[in-house]
Amino acid sequence: MIPPADPGAGYRAQQAEIDAALHRAAASGWYILGREGAAFEAEFARWLGTARAVGCGSGTDAIVLALRALGIGPDATVVTVSHTAVASVAAIEVVGATPLLLDIDPETFTMDPDELISVLGDPPPGLPPIRAVLAVHLYGQGCDLGPMLEACGALGIPLIEDCAQCHGSLLDGRKLGTFGRVSAFSLYPTKNLGALGDAGIVATDDAALADRIGALRQYGWRDRYISAESGINSRLDELQAAVLRARLPRLDGNNARRREIAAAYDAALTGGPVAPPVRRPGAEHVFHQYVLRVPGRPAMQAMLREAGIGTAIHYPMPVHLQPAYRGRVPLGPAECRETERAAEEVLSLPMYPEMTDEQVDRVCAALRALR
Ligand SMILES: *Cc1c(COP(=O)(O)O)cnc(C)c1O
Repeated sequence: MIPPADPGAGYRAQQAEIDAALHRAAASGWYILGREGAAFEAEFARWLGTARAVGCGSGTDAIVLALRALGIGPDATVVTVSHTAVASVAAIEVVGATPLLLDIDPETFTMDPDELISVLGDPPPGLPPIRAVLAVHLYGQGCDLGPMLEACGALGIPLIEDCAQCHGSLLDGRKLGTFGRVSAFSLYPTKNLGALGDAGIVATDDAALADRIGALRQYGWRDRYISAESGINSRLDELQAAVLRARLPRLDGNNARRREIAAAYDAALTGGPVAPPVRRPGAEHVFHQYVLRVPGRPAMQAMLREAGIGTAIHYPMPVHLQPAYRGRVPLGPAECRETERAAEEVLSLPMYPEMTDEQVDRVCAALRALR
């Protein structure tokens, strides 16, 4: 069976370098916030093109720390989408803020900028003031950031980028994660850049904001043992940082391989009943996921399973319909109708850079059989 993702194959492809990195960190005798972490932060910031990057415990915590550092708390509403990993919404609630969930553009699966402009100009009654927008770049390509940044900028509302699925993706030639006030990356094992456990990183050009995030991730310490403000414990450990340092130099090449696999899938689908994923003009997609819209999804999943091809659904239930949130989180005026349709139809094909040509050919043969 070809799995939808294979983080073990990623480890095996670099086993000698990753093992050496793990041993180096283990032998150092220093396991939390040391040389590996500091070096990874500097290398990641240089790769991304921001002044600073601050490691933390997960992608969820990266969003939490970004929100906290911007002073977003219980007296605030944060606008995001319902068609995302639940973590985007969970992070907003961790800081005590109210998530306001908007609908998506059905072609790119990202926030509808017109609905954002509408709620910023005319916020739904009964909610705390909107103090931030969390823009989720889903599946590997960016939101329609231009109008979103313009609308936020006009009101002085910070835009935070959720970059958990877009490491290395470009919009108009510029890396995602460099457009907003601050950006949050997950380094979960299956992401385009993944650790061998939980990890995350926050990036920004604002040195004061980066310093505050650095303090908040460790009990609010600016000086050791003295909390300048109340913080949390969400640190990037040295073992994960060492692994990530070994992997970062491979990221761009791995993204190129993902695009090559996507191009093969595109060609196999051409002329058939299922259209390849829509690319946003000006975007360079990094295919964290290769997602189709398939009205008869169960039949197609079964056909692929029969051919030894695993698939996944990102995501089977919109956040606002999940038991923890249903009937409780406010929605924008479009009431997430496209989001609910998408949840019924999205299907993710196997996508990871270590897929062999033979595996890619097998998926393509199954896709050609749809014609
Ligand atoms: C994975 C993911 C997160 C959360 O990251 P974790 O490291 O799992 O906490 C947040 N947002 C999106 C869009 C994600 O895909």
